[in-house]
Amino acid sequence: MREFVELEAKRNRGWPWPEKSFGMDPMFGAGGWCHSCGIPQGPQTGSLTLQRRNLTPVGAWVPYWIYDLICVDDGLAETLRGRFSLDLRPVAWPATPAGDAWQIVIPTVGQSWYAPEDLRRQTLARHRRTGARCPVCGTWKWLPLASELLPPLHITPPLGDVDIAASPEWFGDSLSYFRKILVRRQLAETITAASPKDFLIREVT
Ligand SMILES: [Zn+2]
Repeated sequence: MREFVELEAKRNRGWPWPEKSFGMDPMFGAGGWCHSCGIPQGPQTGSLTLQRRNLTPVGAWVPYWIYDLICVDDGLAETLRGRFSLDLRPVAWPATPAGDAWQIVIPTVGQSWYAPEDLRRQTLARHRRTGARCPVCGTWKWLPLASELLPPLHITPPLGDVDIAASPEWFGDSLSYFRKILVRRQLAETITAASPKDFLIREVT
């Protein structure tokens, strides 16, 4: 897996709006995400909306609450557009027109990234439980595993041409949820160089 790496967020910046829906309503519609487990039930239809409070939208960053996306400023978005094929969507603000920042929408790619028996063994060893199925939407979430505890990747079918991708497997506990994200090395290096305080690169096995 030399060509893909993980981008680890060293910090979070920017609170999604409105807080009542953790910022999910503008992105997915009120009925587009599960209010029990938090997981989107379909593709993103609207913009991530961020509060300006305590946020200087420069470089690249991951907001609070919604962790499986990356925000970039105008200049970095321009650089990325020329070099990578990415789904970039304007970030919205509660009281001012959209602009100044862009969201990299990270597509789910593949049928599975891990062997279920590997995940079962690792989650049991770490948590004594494997995960849970949401009683409302039926989505299975594996309990979270730190990078060093995750089993080896067996991505089926292989990732191919994408520059950034998220796993079909969901991880998390109660209201928290995330997918595993892989980033093409050159893209990760460009983002980290623009925002070294926000990201570090982690090799994957
Ligand atoms: Zn659910």
